[in-house]
Amino acid sequence: SVIAKLELLPEVEAFLNKSPFASFVGGKEFPAASGKLIPTLDPGSGETIAEIHDLDASEIDRAVDIANEAFPAWSGLTQPERSQILLQLAAAVEKHKPIIAQIESLDAGKIQAQAAGDVQNFVDTLRYFVGLADQVQTRTKLDSPGYDAWTYKQPWGACAFIFPWNFPFLLIGWGISPALAAGNTVVIKPAEDTSLSALYLAQLAKEIGVPDGVINVVTGRGATAGAALTQNKNIKRMSFTGSPEVGQLVGEACGRNLIPVKLELGGKGAAVVFDDVDVAETAKALVGAITFHSGQVCCDATRWLIQEDIYDEFVAQCIKLMKDVKIGHPLDPNSQMGPVVNPKQCERVLGYQTKGKAGGAECIYGGGAATVEGYEGNYVNPALLAGTLDNVAAQEEIFGPVAYLAKFSTEEEAIAMANDTQYGLANSVWTTDNDRAARVAEAMIAGNSWINAHNVFAQGVPYGGVNKSGMGGGVLSVETLMDYYRSTSVVRPL
Ligand code: NAD
Repeated sequence: SVIAKLELLPEVEAFLNKSPFASFVGGKEFPAASGKLIPTLDPGSGETIAEIHDLDASEIDRAVDIANEAFPAWSGLTQPERSQILLQLAAAVEKHKPIIAQIESLDAGKIQAQAAGDVQNFVDTLRYFVGLADQVQTRTKLDSPGYDAWTYKQPWGACAFIFPWNFPFLLIGWGISPALAAGNTVVIKPAEDTSLSALYLAQLAKEIGVPDGVINVVTGRGATAGAALTQNKNIKRMSFTGSPEVGQLVGEACGRNLIPVKLELGGKGAAVVFDDVDVAETAKALVGAITFHSGQVCCDATRWLIQEDIYDEFVAQCIKLMKDVKIGHPLDPNSQMGPVVNPKQCERVLGYQTKGKAGGAECIYGGGAATVEGYEGNYVNPALLAGTLDNVAAQEEIFGPVAYLAKFSTEEEAIAMANDTQYGLANSVWTTDNDRAARVAEAMIAGNSWINAHNVFAQGVPYGGVNKSGMGGGVLSVETLMDYYRSTSVVRPL
């Protein structure tokens, strides 16, 4: 086996040896009574690294009940008591960063250094929201002439979270940190391909003294376990990160029960490149972005709109850079780009290349499956397609290292092209003209616009999409924390 030859940390080996993994609910292992298991694979070698339990609907419902039962005690702590526990969790995650990063790297096909960055981001996000929650005034006096009036904010109860496979650990941090800091309990449903880091987190939380039932992880298939969580009437809020197709189902299910829902969905971001840029630097940044985690990044720039007079030079630079990208196993320190998550995703990426070409696009570089000697993983080559924006490969999210290029001549045309999409997550504009940069950044319809950068995040800078990219307020900001409190206005005559 290839895995046996990889140099795994002893702690990671010990963890994987615990397979098959039950879910983790109420501070203990929570097995599927059916005994059904789902294999989880190393995308870099195609080998099974562990198995996880596949819960059924009644088990999901029980997990939600357990999370609600843990709520009074957790929400009843003082803010300093709760913050103290969460800061201990942040410290423990930071201390175990190499272990979690290697588990994540192996389970999600993520370059190890990038996985370590994701773990640190979890830690930073948890600390950020704890710091914010410490400042929240839960009682605020209101102005109501003749009356004594105030609002009282309190957490909701058990909040549900469903996550995708591309940033399994980081997204858990973005999702649950504000919920926990505000005093809610959480039920996490990770993607079936990438549940291991969530299970590790739940065990770590138990070890450092997070009360039982505060952080619960339920594992299973989306269509069964995931759907059961969205249909449960006792969750107080739902947060879903994933595809728009499933997001619609989640929204419908929550709508039926009038459960508040936050949807963080896909994207088809544009990078608008004007002719006054440093072409080599801009090409480097965009090739870096599209090959980062093999293009499996919701906010990626996947439509590159290039001003016509630098188009040829820009393409030449991109081709040169793409040729140098070292594709390899995520745990190989020389690898720059790892595999895509599973064979289905591989087919999806290659299928869009075929469909794009059938629709009239030209493949100007790369494409197809890639081979990495010694590994039977899901590797694909980076690719550049070019053509008109009515092409399926320019309209639909591919979720792979495939950029679609088109030319523009004027600023108006560039804005119209950038907005020719159903999505609205994140775009970027590249120019040395500051006024134009700000104009275009504001004119592109999306939750996020970057100027001379792409994929830059900070705790405190709101992140989230509009239109087909999501709804419900986004993540990472002060407003996100406030979503995890409900408020009651109280009024009495003076
Ligand atoms: P997906 O929608 O297939 O699955 C996401 C999660 O939903 C998984 O945990 C899955 O088990 C679960 N699920 C599947 N069917 C379900 C159902 N019927 N009911 C309830 N849950 C169900 O998405 P994916 O393929 O895992 O992830 C890729 C997608 O996620 C892309 O579209 C990407 O852009 C998006 N994404 C968005 C963000 C963001 O912040 N906006 C971040 C990361 C990924």
